[in-house]
Parts: sequence; C-alpha cells; structure tokens
Amino acid sequence: MIHDEFDRQHLWHPYTSTENPLPTYKVARAEGAEIILEDGRRLVDGMSSWWCVIHGYNDPDLNAAAKAQIDRMSHVMFGGLTHEPAIELGKLLLSILPPSMEHIFYADSGSVATEVAMKMAVQYHDDPRRTNFATIRSGYHGDTWNAMSVCDPVTGMHGAFGSALPIRHFVDAPACRFGGEWDDADFEPMAKLIAEKKDELAAVILEPVVQGAGGMRFYHPEYLRKLRRACDEAGILLIFDEIATGFGRTGKLFAWEHAGVEPDIMLIGKALTGGYMTFSAVVTSASVAKHIADSSAHCIMHGPTFMGNPLACAVAVASTRKLLSSPWQERIGSIESIMKDKLEKARSWKSVNDVRVLGAIGVVETKDPVNMAEFQKRCVERGVWIRPFNRNAYIMPPFMAVSDEQVEKLCDVLLDIIHELHELPALNGEN
Ligand SMILES: *Cc1c(COP(=O)(O)O)cnc(C)c1O
Repeated sequence: MIHDEFDRQHLWHPYTSTENPLPTYKVARAEGAEIILEDGRRLVDGMSSWWCVIHGYNDPDLNAAAKAQIDRMSHVMFGGLTHEPAIELGKLLLSILPPSMEHIFYADSGSVATEVAMKMAVQYHDDPRRTNFATIRSGYHGDTWNAMSVCDPVTGMHGAFGSALPIRHFVDAPACRFGGEWDDADFEPMAKLIAEKKDELAAVILEPVVQGAGGMRFYHPEYLRKLRRACDEAGILLIFDEIATGFGRTGKLFAWEHAGVEPDIMLIGKALTGGYMTFSAVVTSASVAKHIADSSAHCIMHGPTFMGNPLACAVAVASTRKLLSSPWQERIGSIESIMKDKLEKARSWKSVNDVRVLGAIGVVETKDPVNMAEFQKRCVERGVWIRPFNRNAYIMPPFMAVSDEQVEKLCDVLLDIIHELHELPALNGEN
C-alpha cells in the first residue's frame, strides 16, 4: 500500500492533523535524485528533503564514510572527550567560512543551533537589560521555543503559542529584490528600530539574502551591508542563519558572500551532512567567544547529549569534501538557467503573482494558496516530488545529483499543475 493505515492512525507528520491528515506516500528507498515508492514508482525529487540532500540519496561516498565511522564508534560524549571526525570537520569548516569565524559549537539540529546562537548573544552582553532580539518578517529559524519567537509571527506556523513566546522586535522584510534596484528607504524601519531599542537588543538575527520557509523571498544584499554597519555602531551582534542557504544552494557557498558581509555568529545545518542525519553548527568570532569566556558564567551554557556526534561529523566531512571537489558552481549555474527559462512563462499568468529563481531554487508564487494534497497527488502521478506551501510552489532539487532532463521535468510538471489548479479556473472566472 502506498498510504499506510498504521502510519495514518498513529504517526504524527509535520504540520498536519491526526484526525484528517494529509496523505503520506510510503518510500521504499531512494537513490540519486529519485525517491522510489513502495509500488515501484520513481519520483524525481524537487525538494532535496527540505534543502539538505545536495548530493542525492544513497551516495556511495557518504555511505562509505558512514560505514567506516560506524565500525569505529557511532557516538561518544563530547564532554571531556574529543575525536578525529570533529577536529577534521572543524578544520574543514573554518577553511570555507568567513575569515573572522574561529570557534565552532556542534549542535544537534537547526533549531537547536538557533537556540545556541541566541544564548551566545545574551551571554556575550552579559547584561540583564540586553537580552532581546530583532529580526525581519517572513523569516524562519526553527520550531523550538526561542527559534519560534523570531520566526514570522504570521507565516511562521507558530501563532498557536501567542503570548507564551517571548516578544521580539520585527520590521518588514526588505522589499528590494535580489538583482533589482536598491532603495535606501528599505532599511529605514530597521535603522529606526535599532536606534530606539539598542539598549535592550542582544542581536539581530536573519537569513541572509534568501528567506526560506517563511516565504521563499530573495532580497537585496545591500540590506545586509547597511545592517552590518548599524549593528556595529549600536554594539549589537549580527546572526546569520545559513541553515537553508549554506553549501551552495544560492550559487555561492554561503549566502553572505552575495553581500560580502560577515556575521558575528553564523548557523549552518541541513546540507552540512548532505542530508544524511541531523546535525548543525554555530560558528562565531574570537571576540564573541572571548566575551563569553569573560562573562559571569565563563562558558556557553549549553551541552547537548549528542554534541559533536562522530557519525554526523564523519559524514559532514565526506559531504563537504565531495562538494568542494565537484564543479558545484557550474552545476548550479545550469540548473538556474534551466529554471529561469522554463518557469518564466508563468509570470504572465493571471493566477501567478511572481516567478523567481536564484541558484538552485525556483519559486512560482500563486495568488491563491496551493491545495497541497491535490498538488502532491498530481505530482506523484506524473513522477515528481514537490511539496508546495501556502502560495509558493517551488523546486530545489538535489543539485549535484539531478540531470538537466530531470530539472526540466520538475519545471514542466510544476507549471502544468499550477495551470490546471490555478490558471484554468482563473481564466474561467472561477476566482
Ligand atoms: C530548517 C531551518 C531551521 C531549523 O532547522 P531544523 O533542523 O529543522 O531544526 C532553521 N533555520 C532555517 C533558515 C531553516 O531553513
């Protein structure tokens, strides 16, 4: 059975009801850019399992790294012990991160990385008045408590928690688009907020250039240059969440490179292990680390059980090495131009608000919300895997595994289904 009854009755899936859940499709295995269902159907993966599977599934090099490490040890505590995979990964990461980044905290997931970064910022100031955060709307930083507090308050899927969450300061997300004109007025709300609240702010946190799950928006890098200056002047830390954008997805190794602006604290996750397992890192400068060492607690007050997990470190080393030794920029460049060519025709559609492509991310934003279950059913029937949310139907394939033909297929199917579900009804005046 492609839909499993036990699963439907007992297993929670993300963001769907236990009473009337969205359908789930049972996967037998996955290889390269394809997900293979129990009934043998092969789906071209347009999601990279939420940004992370950059080399594709069942990759021989990543498999070999995992197997070799399992035979040594899959886990050992990081308190008082260390190991080669952690050290090797650390050296590798520092060699590709901004030169100012010197200290690495290995955490267990993206959301936990956000928590750790926010704790670092508070401990950096070590001042009970400077404990709050500012951010831009349409952001997404994870599902744990503090991470939720800095997600977009409307699209962030966390409205149910209302007053239980700490109150953060939000300004509108930049309106100036990536590749478009810059207008200084775009930064004014943030400049004003920083001027007014600087005595209570520990840091500004945001996703550089590409906002992911909060709206799939691409904004002008000049915003980050202005923000860096404003944070420096106000003595506020700047946190870049590169969990979705890191490791090539936007056409640069990290999205901060589009702006040439370095953060004080940077978060990476998702593609760090090539999507093999949950793992993340919080990387910061010598100055931030020194302030924390000199603070009242003398150290960062966080230390999860699976910190520095050797298996995750070993796979992360293999994934990152594999990426760096591949022609990833060329590959992403051609995926970008295929998606630009293919998706462009939807721009003039009545039911479509916007089409945007950056690196290996292609988005068609519809005017009305997409019916996820119906959209996915039609995708599966046509041999692709795409999961739209809200008004965004988007493709972000496993860029090192997907072929040009597979990218074309993803685009064609995405457009066909939007045409059937949105454009035809719009043309017939049904909306
Ligand atoms: C996915 C994501 C997170 C959360 O990561 P998890 O591993 O799901 O906890 C945080 N920030 C951004 C930008 C993300 O895309």
